Amino acid sequence: MAKHEYDVLIVGTGAGGGGVLWWLCEKWQKEIKRIGIIERGELLLPSHARNLPMMNTDLLWRYFNTVSSPLPGAESDYSGARQLFAFGGRTLFWFAFALRMNLSIMEKWPIPIEEMASYYNIAEQAMNVTSTFTQDSTFTEILLDRLWQNGFSDADHIPLAADLMPSIYGRIHTDIFNSSVSFLSTALNLSPACLWLTTALCLSLAPNIRH
Ligand SMILES: Cc1cc2nc3c(=O)[nH]c(=O)nc-3n(C[C@H](O)[C@H](O)[C@H](O)COP(=O)(O)OP(=O)(O)OC[C@H]3O[C@@H](n4cnc5c(N)ncnc54)[C@H](O)[C@@H]3O)c2cc1C
Repeated sequence: MAKHEYDVLIVGTGAGGGGVLWWLCEKWQKEIKRIGIIERGELLLPSHARNLPMMNTDLLWRYFNTVSSPLPGAESDYSGARQLFAFGGRTLFWFAFALRMNLSIMEKWPIPIEEMASYYNIAEQAMNVTSTFTQDSTFTEILLDRLWQNGFSDADHIPLAADLMPSIYGRIHTDIFNSSVSFLSTALNLSPACLWLTTALCLSLAPNIRH
């Protein structure tokens, strides 16, 4: 890779890197561009950990604690903060709660709220964000009732990046919980001609892609 020039070189395959890669491939489907993406970590999991049949919450946390390490310098602010160097970054283990920032915070941002809303809409569609995941859960309904009765009228079902479509008519929807791996897969299907990956990932993920 060091011998080549790239139109864009993305560092990291986590939420940021995966999202940018997908978006560029979406935009440049018909153009010949060289996009490189480099990743410090190994290929740890092929999907979000919760999509693996053998995983339960206990195993997931034990595994996450084994493969991640404490974030240096974070002890005083948040002692639980951990970093993970792996293909897909922390999205392999995130809870998939896909909440928008509070409007009052965004008012001070240089990007207008309406413009931010359009980016949120694109991201939420790409990540299959839904508020129906917790619907009909007795626990959630009781909690929401109590919140509404006590004046928290904004309380709502939590939006989750989860593809709840069943696999049907040849369309496979087994990657329920979204991770950056989903972004990379979509990017590969959109425009494999413009995508270059680091050799190790390239060989294990897509044998026919250039590296
Ligand atoms: C257990 C857990 C639960 C979470 N739940 C939620 C949630 O429900 N909702 C929510 O919004 N957020 C959640 N988060 C946070 C969310 O996962 C992160 O905010 C998000 O993944 C950050 O994206 P990122 O691309 O900035 O970083 P990361 O996802 O960490 O990706 C960074 C990538 O860069 C790579 N990298 C680092 N250094 C280099 C280098 N020098 N060269 C090449 N590659 C490098 C890393 O290996 C990694 O792949 C959770 C996080 C964890 C750990």
